[in-house]
Amino acid sequence: MNGRKVTVIGSINMDLVTSTNQIPKVGETVLGNSFHSIPGGKGANQAVAAARLGADVTMIAAVGNDSFGKTLVEHLTNEGINTENIIKVKDTSTGIASIIVSEADNSIIVVPGANNHVTPEVIEKHENKIINSDIILLQLEISVESVIKAVELAKKHGVRTILNPAPIQKLPKELLEMVDYLTPNEHEQALLFDSIGGTEEELAKYKEKCIVTKGSKGVMIYKNGEKIEIPSFQVEAVDTTGAGDSFNGALAVALCDGLEIEEACRFANVVGAISVTKLGAQTGMPTKKKLKNFYKYINHLKWSEF
Ligand code: ADP
Repeated sequence: MNGRKVTVIGSINMDLVTSTNQIPKVGETVLGNSFHSIPGGKGANQAVAAARLGADVTMIAAVGNDSFGKTLVEHLTNEGINTENIIKVKDTSTGIASIIVSEADNSIIVVPGANNHVTPEVIEKHENKIINSDIILLQLEISVESVIKAVELAKKHGVRTILNPAPIQKLPKELLEMVDYLTPNEHEQALLFDSIGGTEEELAKYKEKCIVTKGSKGVMIYKNGEKIEIPSFQVEAVDTTGAGDSFNGALAVALCDGLEIEEACRFANVVGAISVTKLGAQTGMPTKKKLKNFYKYINHLKWSEF
């Protein structure tokens, strides 16, 4: 088996979820029904997904020197993730997402806080961690400059990179040239390619790097210009929050294990499907043991590792 050292460079947030019958208008106060603080952030979610599948996961990230930061780092440590490289930033809050959920709608404020302190300089200081990784997993909840620095260093040392371009924004071509895999969802893919512009031929080389996630429909990849659909598994979806994060964590593990891209996608589809059967982004992410049972159930899948 190849190495399973996955380094996740990205965000850590506390999601503060308030449920109410009525989202307050400007200047209005309403009573809520419940409140939960839930560990989140795309970086942390993807790190948890990979760790539960048995990968040796390190996070390069930042939290504030506050109680949320302490709780979140403890949580990641309990998930078996190496948290030694998570920096604690003074006088800045840990990243939070303040989420108001009502039956009809929701509204969200994200305060990146310490996540903005994962600068290119911080990444550079962790070059050694990057060298010693089998794969680097990135998202866009830290600055694009930092993502570029991480991908540059990975490329220099021959380490593969996966960029989950979420939340989507315009990305420089130099970054798209360097990354090995891009994992947008359907909506992100459309916006990404619109923002790059250019002819079909010019875009073709970026498309070949794309693994486009399509929710309950699974994924689509491009091979020599042809689209290949890899269907997902039918499950009863309870909460699809974090499905993409589960998928990305699993994809990183499968690629570490040397699976070809199609088989790796099939594996990540299984993990993504299981993850949506429970409420909460991280709650449904399967452990190796849980996956083993699922694999027995869908025994047509070949990978003997699980
Ligand atoms: P995102 O969460 O980034 O929007 P998607 O919704 O495309 O990403 O989901 C990512 C992956 O999770 C899918 O490709 C699929 O493997 C799995 N998935 C998501 N929703 C479902 C579902 N309802 N049923 C089965 N699998 C799902």
